[in-house]
Amino acid sequence: LVIPEFGRFTQMLDDIYWRLKDRMDGKVADYIPQLSRVSPENWGVTVCSVDGQRHSIGDTSSPFCVQSVSKPLNYAIAINDLGPDAVHQYTGHEPSGESFNEIKLGLNNKPHNPMINAGAIVVTSLLKNKEKLADRFDYIKKQYERIAGGEYIGFNNAVFLSERESADRNYALGYYLKENKCFPEGVNLSETLDFYFQLCSCDVTCESASVIAATLANGGICPITGDKILSAVSVRNTLSLMHSCGMYDYSGQWAFNVGLPAKSGVSGLILVVVPNVMGLALWSPLLDRHGNSIRGISFSEELIRTFNFHNYDNL
Ligand code: GLU
Repeated sequence: LVIPEFGRFTQMLDDIYWRLKDRMDGKVADYIPQLSRVSPENWGVTVCSVDGQRHSIGDTSSPFCVQSVSKPLNYAIAINDLGPDAVHQYTGHEPSGESFNEIKLGLNNKPHNPMINAGAIVVTSLLKNKEKLADRFDYIKKQYERIAGGEYIGFNNAVFLSERESADRNYALGYYLKENKCFPEGVNLSETLDFYFQLCSCDVTCESASVIAATLANGGICPITGDKILSAVSVRNTLSLMHSCGMYDYSGQWAFNVGLPAKSGVSGLILVVVPNVMGLALWSPLLDRHGNSIRGISFSEELIRTFNFHNYDNL
């Protein structure tokens, strides 16, 4: 098995978990009421190794919405289905150095990368875009389920409705993208934005999210089911962009301190991938000023101090 002495390993993870349990600094996202009502007490950690070794501690079976953690999944599915050239005709690979919802484009008038809203909205417009929205939603939700090994993927309609209600910035960004011809021919903007909000409003638990991370750690083959969902190139590209752009304006520091591909979302989830070893889902809704989970970041930094998972350990 890839993690020998799994019991001793998880004991050490539990120790880190308990040390962070009382940390109550930071703030729950409050731009929509549905997120502001989530208890700041929630704190869960699940690991899933590429051999299917599992361990959970804390609030790991409560559902919460994925928010921006949908971005790497949508990107991976787009690359898998359409190939890198077709996708990167519409989005770049560079960190933006700006906030995730900035109204700004990069080189050649393309969004900087698919991990921020501009790029993610454009990627959403590429997903099965010849089909009806209902079928497109069904398809992506099924892909999420396969990536999560059949574990919990839900849809939170209240989150979707209030995302759409409070989406002035994303509408502004959408029109800016349209004005700059960032979408393929024939794309319907309001449908694309609805689809983007719907995918942000899909629910996971720490447990199901850890399988998603483990499928990425395992090159696109779900370690629980053996199902091959994503091509090697789509996973490689996704992990590369998670590494450089996955943690909002903390991405550079994260790459330096933790050295692992990850993606966070404003619901307080951080998906961390240790390639060829395991995936981790860390969930705590208390966020720092960048929008990253404070307990999640501290847990990861502590993990790297304890184990040599950093990309440049072992040199
Ligand atoms: N629904 C959010 C938005 O598009 C995503 C926030 C996030 O997790 O970064 O603005």
